[in-house]
Amino acid sequence: MTIETNPARFKPYTRQSITQAPQWSLLGPELQEAVQVVSHVLPFRTNAYVLDQLIDWGNIPDDPIYRLVFPHRDMLRREEYAQLRDLVLFKKDDAASARLVHAIRMRMNPHPAGQMTHNVPRVNDTPLRGLQHKYKETVLFFPSAGQTCHAYCTFCFRWPQFVGMEGMKFDARESGELVEYLKLHPEVTDVLITGGDPLVMNTRSLAGYIEPLLAPELAHIQNIRIGTKSVAYWPQRFVSDADADDLLRLFERVVKAGKNLAVMGHYSHAVELRGALAQQAVKRIVSTGATLRMQGPLIRHINEDPKSWAELWTTGVRLGAIPYYMFVERDTGPSDYFALPLARAHEIFQAAYQMVSGLSRTVRGPSMSAFPGKVVIDGIVTINGEKLFALQFLQARNPDWVRKPFFAEFDPTATWLDHLVPAFGKKKFFFEGEEGGGFDDAPPPSKQRVIPLALAGRTEVQPCDSTIDAE
Ligand code: SF4
Repeated sequence: MTIETNPARFKPYTRQSITQAPQWSLLGPELQEAVQVVSHVLPFRTNAYVLDQLIDWGNIPDDPIYRLVFPHRDMLRREEYAQLRDLVLFKKDDAASARLVHAIRMRMNPHPAGQMTHNVPRVNDTPLRGLQHKYKETVLFFPSAGQTCHAYCTFCFRWPQFVGMEGMKFDARESGELVEYLKLHPEVTDVLITGGDPLVMNTRSLAGYIEPLLAPELAHIQNIRIGTKSVAYWPQRFVSDADADDLLRLFERVVKAGKNLAVMGHYSHAVELRGALAQQAVKRIVSTGATLRMQGPLIRHINEDPKSWAELWTTGVRLGAIPYYMFVERDTGPSDYFALPLARAHEIFQAAYQMVSGLSRTVRGPSMSAFPGKVVIDGIVTINGEKLFALQFLQARNPDWVRKPFFAEFDPTATWLDHLVPAFGKKKFFFEGEEGGGFDDAPPPSKQRVIPLALAGRTEVQPCDSTIDAE
């Protein structure tokens, strides 16, 4: 069942305005109540295209995209939901609700993987706001105008910045500091412009961030990546928005300047790439010479179906995109609701992988973006009668750790790296005890390596080891 509005015009809905959406009346009272209560804790934003084109309203609440964008009561603990419902809907006590909301958010591990404290680069002892540098070759840049999204995913690990939690926002107002930092770091080859979603910006603003990266003194920057979910939530951005053509011309200028422009497209489910508009967006992106890589996390209730992944990758490859990552859902936000055991994640990845041709097997996963790096579950093996997880780093704070196989005891309930126990009776994993190798052990900012700007032009300048978390 679909209700058409005008999907060509971007129309966002939030808690305050969702009651005006034509689909609101299709939600029963319980689902409506859950949206009104849970959206006090987690960010809620959707848009007319998502409502009209992606959700099957005959299948709510189980429709995957409904689960992806609409808050559900089980995303909170039972007692939390009951208390908040009472405060918000009946007592209408704003101060008490704010206190409870804050307590729930803090319980939800608002910043996993050391992002706020450990990955922020510093110049002359000053942290560079809006930048992260975790892996030596990649810098993340968070332009301030790109810190929202066309819709919010209920599982999103960036949720604290969307709800305005103090100190939880990365943003840079202009690219001057980024350019200065990159000049000092010839080892950096990739810049990932991310958010939120940088493509909520108009093309003029985006060009203001990207064009300085084409300067001759930044010849070492080879790849400019843009992390975006607009390919799924608002494909009009590449097709029919007033400045969609300008955006494509910008991509062409980057390619012409000799760089690889990589659109890191976040897709959660095959339905997001079934529509003509979404397919046209892919074709238009790749027609500029840019590449489009497909990535997304594996989420319970949303995409635990191998067939959906196989369809997504196969369709993407046919249109010219490249399957890239299947991530494990991070340990933040309503992770109890969304998490899948690593063993199950491996099973789903393997089943999907077996369904596709070699061209789709560029995809890697399931991969955890954990504090020490990106760890992929390669398989479940038995060695000397012991059932084990076979793991390796695809990316790491210490490059020496990459592609070194290691093993953990098989645990059917483990959902994240820090639940795993080293195999063969070892006390710790090989990377533990090394700098950056704990699960949350980086030094405080005051102890992190500082690159004095005055020294930075000399050859002895080291890559900053207060690092980033590339998506
Ligand atoms: S689009 Fe990306 S950044 Fe935005 S809410 Fe979804 S996962 Fe988070």
